[in-house]
Amino acid sequence: MNEGLWDVIVIGAGMSGLGAGIRLALAGKKVLLLEQHHSVGGLNGFYTKNKILYDVGLHALTNFVPAGTVGKPLTKLCRQLRIPYEALQLQEQRQSRIQFPGISLCFRNQFEGLVEEIRKHFPKEIDRFLKLHAAIATVADTDLIGMPFCSAREQVQQFLRDPLLIEMILLPLLYYGSAQVNDLDWRQFAILYKAIYQEGFARPKGGVRTLLRLLLERFRTEGGVLRTQAGVRSIDCRDRQVVSVELASGEKCYAKQFFSSIGWMETQMLCGKKVLPILPRLTFMETITTYEGRLQDCGWNDTIVFFNRSDRVFYQPPESFFDERSGVICIPENYGMPKEPSSQPVRFTLRTTHLANFSAWKVLPSEAYRQQRHKSLFASRACAFSVLQGNPPECVVDEDLFTPLTIERFTGHVQGAVYGSPQKFRDGRIGYDNLFLCGTDQGFLGIIGALLSGVSMANYHGLRGMP
Ligand SMILES: Cc1cc2nc3c(=O)[nH]c(=O)nc-3n(C[C@H](O)[C@H](O)[C@H](O)COP(=O)(O)OP(=O)(O)OC[C@H]3O[C@@H](n4cnc5c(N)ncnc54)[C@H](O)[C@@H]3O)c2cc1C
Repeated sequence: MNEGLWDVIVIGAGMSGLGAGIRLALAGKKVLLLEQHHSVGGLNGFYTKNKILYDVGLHALTNFVPAGTVGKPLTKLCRQLRIPYEALQLQEQRQSRIQFPGISLCFRNQFEGLVEEIRKHFPKEIDRFLKLHAAIATVADTDLIGMPFCSAREQVQQFLRDPLLIEMILLPLLYYGSAQVNDLDWRQFAILYKAIYQEGFARPKGGVRTLLRLLLERFRTEGGVLRTQAGVRSIDCRDRQVVSVELASGEKCYAKQFFSSIGWMETQMLCGKKVLPILPRLTFMETITTYEGRLQDCGWNDTIVFFNRSDRVFYQPPESFFDERSGVICIPENYGMPKEPSSQPVRFTLRTTHLANFSAWKVLPSEAYRQQRHKSLFASRACAFSVLQGNPPECVVDEDLFTPLTIERFTGHVQGAVYGSPQKFRDGRIGYDNLFLCGTDQGFLGIIGALLSGVSMANYHGLRGMP
């Protein structure tokens, strides 16, 4: 099967691998996409449990802009991948919130709303905030040429004086895309600030499956070949040149060019290099609970809540299994227009994400691990209830929890590092002439970021010089 020489082999069918594969196939390349699992999506996949369909990661598709908006990441991406915007069936967030003790900043998909919130709660800071906003607009955030790390925290401190406002602005950006402890790179800050505050959140109707179906259809229509349950066991390198990959089955696949979406360290290990992780590697725990009841009775109107239970954010691996001091809560049913209050119970979902400690979970024997999962699920839910207030629902239909070990097992990311290595390889070069990185460790994160990473790496290394 699939004998011969491929133009390109892409390792990993997460968002970035799919983005790269489509772009290369669209340019007429003979592309083979290799995925270790039986389904695609990686960190943003989906699964069925107890007859309920779950998204693995999707809280929000960032970078929301209305159809027809020119020159923004979402619409550029649709153009590059030849996917009609309407086919995404995006439903906008209703309202999200950054919640600290005694104070909240609400935001929607209109940036002016956030400005008004800052004017109301931090009147002395508003002029300085607007100067920060103007400075962010000038950051060259798509530049691929390597630049040293520049602390976003230090940059923001040059504009804002109120430490609480600084922490509040940073919290969602850290949670949605920082591989650094308590900070992130200034260019990454600018990308996320625009993606979250200036553009906003939406969700495809039907969740991540809608997006994945569109991506797969496009890839196959352009002649791309996907092989699932085809994990790459090793990469055969002769000095700087990669010749082939060997699958877990022992089969070898040959190509002229290779893209890897599985991470820097993970790729080097397949090339037979002994590498140590660039520390720290941040990971998360995510709980999902499906309830039966009436969401309106709970009084939970927010789509996403970024909460922090003190005035200072500790975005770092916690000492305990997971960190209850901060997190993200998502209620996917709060996307789209509010429905007429229903008299009938319906199902709705509560998802919470916390920072977690990989090593703490890793050392547990299996029974203790099972018990800790159970305890953590309850503790995380109690934490969400105390943040959301209202009348928490009681009728649990189903529940699930991903630990850092689940993330490592299902995605191959060492230590379950969702945002990969703190060091990024912005031009995708990792020491080989025909093997390039895309995805998490290239540096663009999240669903839209990973897709853009695949597209831009394909354009940069695969299609440069093509008519
Ligand atoms: C719990 C959680 C919630 C999230 N929520 C959001 C959100 O709401 N919004 C958002 O924008 N982003 C979110 N993210 C982040 C987002 O999912 C990622 O940034 C993005 O999907 C990364 O895509 P990727 O292609 O770079 O990597 P991955 O998704 O990790 O894809 C890599 C693929 O490679 C495969 N693979 C690994 N090793 C091999 C091998 N040896 N051979 C073959 N295949 C291999 C893996 O199975 C995987 O399919 C979330 C992540 C998590 C974990």
